[in-house]
Amino acid sequence: MGKVAVVTGGASGLGLSVVERFAREGYKVVIVDLATGQGEAHAKRLSEEGRDVHFISADVSRQANAKEAAERIYQQFGGIHVLVNSAGIIRRKANVDVPDEELNAVLNVNLNGTVYMSQAVQPYMAKSGGGAICNMASMLAHYGSKNLLSYAASKGGVVQVTKCLAVDWAEHHIRVNAVSPGYIETPLSSGATRDPAFNERILSRTPQRRYGKPEEVAAAIYFLCSDEASFITGVVLPIDGGLLAG
Ligand code: NAD
Repeated sequence: MGKVAVVTGGASGLGLSVVERFAREGYKVVIVDLATGQGEAHAKRLSEEGRDVHFISADVSRQANAKEAAERIYQQFGGIHVLVNSAGIIRRKANVDVPDEELNAVLNVNLNGTVYMSQAVQPYMAKSGGGAICNMASMLAHYGSKNLLSYAASKGGVVQVTKCLAVDWAEHHIRVNAVSPGYIETPLSSGATRDPAFNERILSRTPQRRYGKPEEVAAAIYFLCSDEASFITGVVLPIDGGLLAG
């Protein structure tokens, strides 16, 4: 049996790039996303290109949905070897004004969704002989920002969740790592990248003076989930053109 990789948020942006990378490497890939039309269309396109890609509609911020998705994947495909938690949302609001609904919405998807999906796949991954999880943190897990309190708090939480699960699940042969992308051109970041002042501010802080590409994030995630990284667990790898080094 081939290995099975599950990618939340795989219908768009960084998640889609991860889907394409694992599919190209011969994995059976399951996209788990809310965006049903988009997810199904990408699964169909990639299948027509000879890849083994499937789609399941689920809201990762609902624990029952996450459990159902993991159970369905295991029953249908007989194993779960990789989970990439890429589903995420961002809301910009002055930190003093963040409404409760927004704080909860962002934490529910970015932080709780990562926890729910990881918990949901854990027993199946253990039964599959072990595996690897990679979470999406962000440079905003490492420094503060105006207007992004909810997002930064969720990503700081993702870092700690990564470390706790890495410590806990090593005995089940499950490695848990995270990446902290800098500014990468995707639908989620495109609103910000259309603003010239914002662009200049970011690029001036990025030693490589460019935005990253989704494939560059996917390559690092592929490495962290591969056997090449067999002694690496609990790390948070920046992929940011040097931003955090400065
Ligand atoms: P994106 O908006 O292109 O894709 C996010 C995907 O998540 C979408 O397909 C969306 O439908 C899905 N999604 C949202 N809520 C969901 C839910 N409740 N259940 C299931 N699916 C849901 O965003 P992206 O830029 O690809 O970002 C992916 C991840 O990378 C996010 O966690 C984001 O915070 C992180 N990240 C992105 C950047 C960047 O510059 N793009 C930088 C750092 C971190």
